Amino acid sequence: MVRIYEGRCHCGAVRFRFRSEEIAGGLRCNCSICIRRGAVMSPAYVPPSDIELLEGKDALEVYRFGDLTMNHYFCRTCGIHPFGEIIRKPGEPRGGFLRFNLGCIDGIDPLALEIELVDGRAF
Ligand SMILES: [Zn+2]
Repeated sequence: MVRIYEGRCHCGAVRFRFRSEEIAGGLRCNCSICIRRGAVMSPAYVPPSDIELLEGKDALEVYRFGDLTMNHYFCRTCGIHPFGEIIRKPGEPRGGFLRFNLGCIDGIDPLALEIELVDGRAF
């Protein structure tokens, strides 16, 4: 079932809405950034056509590292990472596809979901 989800960073400067199949699980990853961040992320990337940034275009700052496959967005006021954008990776969609931090989504308790562990350190 497709649902509409709304979310925001901690201070509320960044607000967004997206459409997705019901989110029934989450991902955690052990790569160098995820292990420090500790967030539970959405299992799938959401395509840009299903995402609306309601507020905060100017509040977002981007961090990139390593092989530059991801835009790691964070709010410049509260520092929270609401989503990451894949920017290039062979065989995967690019440009505007976002994976969301489930802790930022209204009505989702990330720690109550079934969590899959991704071995991102091995990539
Ligand atoms: Zn914020």
